Amino acid sequence: MSEECLFCKIIKGDIPARKLYEDDKLLAFWDIAPQAPKHFLVIPKQHVRGPGALSPGDEEIIGAVVRKGAELAAENGIPDFRLVINNGAAAGQTVFHLHMHVLGGRPLSWPPG
Ligand code: AMP
Ligand code: ZN
Repeated sequence: MSEECLFCKIIKGDIPARKLYEDDKLLAFWDIAPQAPKHFLVIPKQHVRGPGALSPGDEEIIGAVVRKGAELAAENGIPDFRLVINNGAAAGQTVFHLHMHVLGGRPLSWPPG
């Protein structure tokens, strides 16, 4: 838990979010500025700065983030989707608590910008 972290504040309930799913390890909520018709985030409750800060032993939690994201996509009518995890400002990371974007609901071009 990091005092300054926006997503830790959402986990604590200090900032509201439109939650799709929560358990003791994970939280999923709709993105406040969606980049596709369906766009939600899956985060570990454990504060990790980003994928570059994962430690040996974190495989289970990152695996759970991916698996839950795919399951929630299916449950929310998003059969085709893209998973994105940005690491670092130049890669587009703006919130420094690891989060996986799940995007869908429109054709997604490749390569990404
Ligand atoms: P990134 O740019 O990869 O760090 O992604 C951060 C994401 O968090 C962006 O897509 C933002 O729109 C989203 N975001 C920021 N604040 C909130 C919030 N309060 N509730 C939901 N999503 C948020
Ligand atoms: Zn955090």
